[in-house]
Amino acid sequence: MAANQPVNVCSVPCNLCGGTQVSTLSNKSRSGKPLRTVICQACGLVWSDPRPHDARQFYEEEYRLSYKHTYSPKPKHVLRAGHVALSRFEKIEPLLSSRKAVLDVGTGGGEFAYLLQSLGHGVSGIEPNRGYADYSIQEYGLTVQVGFVQDAVFPPESFDVVTIWHVLEHTEDPGFILALLRSWLKPNGTLVVEVPNVEATCQAPSSTFHEAHLYNFNVVSLRRLAKKHGLFETKHLISRDGGNITMFLSRMEPLFQDRYAATISGNCEWISRIVRQHSNVRRHLTPMPYLRAWQRLCRSFKERRETADAKSGKALLDTLYSPQFRSHSVGRG
Ligand SMILES: [Zn+2]
Repeated sequence: MAANQPVNVCSVPCNLCGGTQVSTLSNKSRSGKPLRTVICQACGLVWSDPRPHDARQFYEEEYRLSYKHTYSPKPKHVLRAGHVALSRFEKIEPLLSSRKAVLDVGTGGGEFAYLLQSLGHGVSGIEPNRGYADYSIQEYGLTVQVGFVQDAVFPPESFDVVTIWHVLEHTEDPGFILALLRSWLKPNGTLVVEVPNVEATCQAPSSTFHEAHLYNFNVVSLRRLAKKHGLFETKHLISRDGGNITMFLSRMEPLFQDRYAATISGNCEWISRIVRQHSNVRRHLTPMPYLRAWQRLCRSFKERRETADAKSGKALLDTLYSPQFRSHSVGRG
């Protein structure tokens, strides 16, 4: 049990170990609204309790509002997402040396899926925002199922690679989602999960917890949740600023659901200490805030220059991706 931490009971049991004894890490969201964020005493999983919203209703409403007008992203947003897509591609490039069947969960505006499709891979997407999905289908010719991941339908063992970038933390039952994605992986396939790192201190302390993020992970809790659902870690990466975890997971065969040993000794204390000690004073003694401000300024100038005569999202991405088109194409089999 975490030292000096009062123990409370939660309304949502721990998604990893089933525990209900928690301590409170924060009572405010990054927007300053009330949001109780708790940590499981037994395993260190972090979540919002009570849930700030029903995830399905929340996103359906948000997407309904965003779909009032046909979605058409500004060139600078396409370019920004294109750069993110390139960095994601760089992380998983060793998995794509020959033509692969890839599923991208949470396709968004389609920039990452379009890159892989243009390189010759067979790509499917899932995206709940109809405006984003329609745009990606029309602009880039992608194959995207519109809906939430838990509603998507694929035959078992369909994909060599499944990617889920910054989606898992928004879901109400991340363990179930990992199990579902495992079922769509071929036996030798790889699931790539990227989530924000709850140990991150690159952001202001008041920006750590977000209404939209129902769960918060560190490497240990994500690895353990994956293991519980039949996936083992082969590798993980931490972004240079410490803000994101990218974990590579393979199927354990046969499926062995280790439901009863999900506690993680010391993880609650470890995360609680990092969150408690994270302060603006400490943060401003590191180069991170200044580096971030400088990077934002440089990016803004660069975007203005690169989007000056943008004709379409596709034209922008074709220019941005052209070096990859030349060097990483696997043909169209
Ligand atoms: Zn737990």
